[in-house]
This record gives sequence, structure tokens and C-alpha cells, in this order.
Amino acid sequence: MALFQIAEPGLSAEPHEHRLAVGIDLGTTNSLVASVISGTAEVIRDEEGAALLPSVVHYAADGTVTVGAVALRDASRDAKNTISSAKRLIGRTMKDLADTHNLPYDLVDDPSMVRIATAAGVKSPVEVSSEVLRTLAERAEKRLGGDLTGAVITVPAYFDDAQRQATKDAARLANLTVLRLLNEPTAAALAYGLDNSAEGVYLVYDLGGGTFDVSLLKLTKGVFEVLATGGNSALGGDDFDHRVLCHVTESFRGGNPKAVFTVNGQPAQSLPVHILSAAEKRRLMQLSRAAKEKLTESEETVIDFTFDNGDRVELPLTRAEFNGMTCHLVQKTIAALSGVLADASVEPKDVKGVVLVGGATRMPCVRDCVERFFGFKPLSNIDPDQVVAIGAAMQANKLAGNTSADDDWLLLDVTPLSLGLETMGGLVEKVIPRNSAIPIARAQDFTTFKDGQTAMAIHVVQGERELVDACRSLARFTLRGIPPMAAGAARIRVTFQVDADGLLSVSAREMKTGVEASIQVKPSYGLSDEDIVRMLKDGNGRAEEDMRARELREQQVEARRLLESTRSALDADGDLLNAEERAEIDRLSAELAAAAAGDDVEAIKAGIAALTKGTETFAERRMDRSIREALSGMSVDDALFDETPAEEDKH
Ligand code: AMP
Repeated sequence: MALFQIAEPGLSAEPHEHRLAVGIDLGTTNSLVASVISGTAEVIRDEEGAALLPSVVHYAADGTVTVGAVALRDASRDAKNTISSAKRLIGRTMKDLADTHNLPYDLVDDPSMVRIATAAGVKSPVEVSSEVLRTLAERAEKRLGGDLTGAVITVPAYFDDAQRQATKDAARLANLTVLRLLNEPTAAALAYGLDNSAEGVYLVYDLGGGTFDVSLLKLTKGVFEVLATGGNSALGGDDFDHRVLCHVTESFRGGNPKAVFTVNGQPAQSLPVHILSAAEKRRLMQLSRAAKEKLTESEETVIDFTFDNGDRVELPLTRAEFNGMTCHLVQKTIAALSGVLADASVEPKDVKGVVLVGGATRMPCVRDCVERFFGFKPLSNIDPDQVVAIGAAMQANKLAGNTSADDDWLLLDVTPLSLGLETMGGLVEKVIPRNSAIPIARAQDFTTFKDGQTAMAIHVVQGERELVDACRSLARFTLRGIPPMAAGAARIRVTFQVDADGLLSVSAREMKTGVEASIQVKPSYGLSDEDIVRMLKDGNGRAEEDMRARELREQQVEARRLLESTRSALDADGDLLNAEERAEIDRLSAELAAAAAGDDVEAIKAGIAALTKGTETFAERRMDRSIREALSGMSVDDALFDETPAEEDKH
């Protein structure tokens, strides 16, 4: 039962009032800000004309903080205080990061989130990211000429709740209102207007400098659902640079007849042995990258490298040669992509469109290979470095209320798994089914299980299975102060609310007295999309098994409830029975208790029926007595429901 839905922030904008909203692609290496200006989404550049802001922050001992290209310059001079890649650390603990990478700065362990030791004190990745966000927001405010209403910030589809929450905190610290966190692949799909295209499955192929991410999105009624994600966190454009670098160093040893050498200012047949200095290595890396990028436009380039001592190598390189030496890298991306398709049981022919994201997708060999694999051209006409920021800007514009009324659907993301509560017998009652468009709030009424129960333990779970043990536990809390009533008389309204960023809060309210308890679910770790796919598959495959288990648990709960009420009736009015009648009820109770301890559903059902029948006369006599008592001045309620001591239990 849907009780209410949450209005989107900012939807009630006055006509003609244009609210300043931006989309921010908060990247590991670089970040961008974009906005819809005069009806078109565009990236906002800094005063020097640069679109990309390096996601780098330098902390000096005197407290000076610099961000972006200025901070990057400090990286080689003062690496320990120059913080890059904060996105890898945000919302992570040391345990999450174990053996992933060695960063040039020092990490400090903290149970909630890893921190960074700098000359200006210990900093959290949230603070570092907030500096980047603040710089971009200032850039945008300067260009747009006013205060920002808010921002849509993009995060990887695989970011869990802790990483998302930490990203939101970074925005808050930067004084930015987050209109929404948006999955990066969803943003890219929006930039291409795929939300208005045919329903179906779309693939986002994101090859950056150091990582490769694949996301499979399913579009239904304008809502994108992330079906699966995958990729290779150690594969990117840098590996292509490295192949070129190896090709050049091989030529030093005479391994390439096309190489032209100059030694001591004279043409030479070969080179003396050189051990590359750090500066030479750095220059060679830069040249290799430049050559790779040049070959995107040209069929051929020449790598012209001069050693520190003036010796020189000129090496022509054709696109065909480059393609040959990097083919295995492109194949690796196709293998990863095939794995993601297989995980989601999607055939390549079922993919309706492919979006290219990330600078390295400019390489013709990548585009050709993707086209060959799918049999159609991928979408690539938006700058692959800017496409995520552009999609985020378009979404921000809508959320700020700048679009026309018939264009104002806003629900882009959905809950990946069902959210529910544990009920008696370890069963799950789903409150928000999977694939519900967010934001959403749903309420459901529950009741007490025992007479006089004054507290209720609320256990929030996530998953598709019928039994609590097979789902993921998200949070527990207790509602206390329920007035003692008969079992089943209390009305406890439990409300689940998922905000636009996928964060869940749950509240429980006793409707008579209004006592309330609530919890915001901020798990310290979340589910990867692989986990979600696995849990979904698990849920589908086991539906029948779950149904049987559910029926058994339900009958066991019913048996316990009947035994409990019989026991309290015997305690209160046992004197209405003669010894023989009492012995018969005790026997039926014992039989039912024994059946309920086993797993034979039919035996439990039979036991319930027998005890119900066996206590009919007793129930009639109790009713007669209570009517007599009522007539003699007591209320029927008082007579029917005896107060048993307060007891905490599940509902
Ligand atoms: P990103 O992390 O998305 O900014 O991607 C950076 C990667 O894209 C680096 O490896 C760049 O060398 C690569 N890249 C940028 N422009 C080009 C280009 N024109 N051709 C080939 N690779 C490029």
C-alpha cells in the first residue's frame, strides 16, 4: 500500500525563474562541472580555458590549500602532502583497501573511514573531495553569475551506501546542496537522451586512464536500472602508453629497422647502452602518450626522443602498428564486457545501444572493436571526457525545475533489491519491492504478537528471498512504549523511505499514543552490483523452495500463537474445565507443540485444527463468564483481555 510519495526538491519553481544548477563529474583523476546554459548543457571552463580540474589537493604546513593544476605541480615536489585519487578512499576503511595500491601519501587507519596524514593535519577523503567540489562550484558561480540552487553529483554505479553517503557529506562540507547523486553510466545515457529512446538494455563502456568500467542499464518507462557492472580496475589508457613505451625502448637495442639514431650529434647505426634517468622515463612516458593520442587523428606519427646527454632516437609509428601492439588490451575489455553480459544473462544482440565514456575510447581501435562485437556503431559524438558531466547537468536542470511541465518526470533510479522487515518465524515482509523508482516512501501496518507486548524489535532487511537468513540484514532498532494491549490489537505503522540518493530511513509509530522510533540505514559497507545480481538470481531460482519454507514458518507461527493464547486462557479461566477436559486440552497442546517443532506442514495444520476444535467448548464458557462479569459492572474489554506482564517480542 503506497501511503505517500515524496515531492522532488525544487519542483515548485516559479515560472520563468531559472535556477542555477550544475552537474559535477567527481572523478578519480579529473573532475568537471557543467550546466544547462541557454538550453544547452555545456562544460564550464576555468579562466585559463581548462575544462578538466585535476582531482588533486595540496596541503601546506601553513594551512594553505591549493586545488587542481596548481596542486598537481606540487605532486613531484611534495608528494606526501599532495592528495590525489581521494575517490578511491572515500567511504572506505583500511580493510576495504588492503593490498590495492600504494599511494604516495600516508594513510591513517580509522574504523569509520581511512584518513590521510598531511602537513596541515589529518584529513579525511571527505574533506579532500569537498575542496574539489568547492573549487568547481566557485567556478560555476562565477560563470553563471549567481548562487547555485544545487548540484547533481555523479558516482560510479558500484559505489555502496557508505561511499555515496561520504560523497554527499563532501558536498555538504563544500556548502553545496545535493539535488541527487546519479550513477555515472546513467548520466552518460541521459546525455545521449536515451531516456527518451526505446525501452531495452544499454551498455556503457568506460575506458579511462587507469580503469575500465562496464555497466549494463535497463531502461523501462524512462527509468534506468543498473543490471550489472564489471570491468577491470587495472586496465586503461595508461596501458596503451606503456605498450608504445616498450616499443620505443626495444628500438634502442636495435630492435626496429625504422629507428633513426643520432649519437654525439652524428647519425649512427646503433645507440650506446643507456640506463634511463627518472626524468628520461617521465619524458618518454609523455611522448608515448602523445604518440598514442596523435594516432587517433593521424595514420602515422614520429616519436622523437632525446636523452639527457643529447643522443636521439626518431621512430616512426603507424596506426596499424599501434593497433597490432595493443590489440590484446582491447580484447581484454571485450572479455570483461562479455563477462558482464553473461552475468546478467544478456546476449550481445539484445543490447540496443552502446555509449562510450572516457578519454581512451577516442582510439579508433577501441571504437572499431566495439562496433565489430555488437554489429553497430557505438554512440560517441559527445566528448567522452565530458559526457557524464553533461548528463548530470541535464538532470540537475530538471531537478531544479527549469524544464517544462510535460518534460518533468524525474525518476531515474530504482531500488536494486526489495526492502522489508523481519516478521514472526524469521520471515520477510517486503515493504518496498525491488525496482521501485526512487524517491519513495511506503508504510505498512504491523501488530503485536503477544498480549501486553510493550516493545517491538524492528529488523530491516534487503533481498528477494522469503527467509530473513537468506537476505542481507541492514539495521535493527526497537520501538518501546507500546501500551499493553491484547495480541493483535496494537497498530504499528512502519514507514520505509528511500531518498533520491538511495539512502533508506525507517520509522515505526504506534498509532494510538504516537510513540515513535526511527533509524537511518547507513551500512558501513554496501552491496556491489555483482552481489545484487547474485541475490536476484538466487531469489528467482529458489522461489518454490522459499514458498515451502514460508508456509512452514507461517504454520509454526500460527501454532505458537494458538498455544500461547490457550495457555493464557487456561491460566485465567482454567477453573471452567473439569480434570478430564483439562487433560484433553493439555494433550492436544502437547501434540501441537511437538508438531510445530518439526517440519511437517500438514501435521502442524492438523494439530492447529485439533486444538482449535478441542477448545471450542472452553471458549464458549469463557465468553459466557465474561458476559456475566460485564453485566455485573466490568467492561467486556477488561474481562476478555487479561493483562500479562510487558514483554518484548517480534510482531
Ligand atoms: P579519462 O580518465 O577519461 O580522462 O581518460 C584519460 C585517458 O584517455 C588517457 O589515457 C588519455 O591518454 C586518453 N586519451 C585522451 N585523449 C585521447 C585521444 N585523442 N586518443 C587516445 N587516447 C586519448
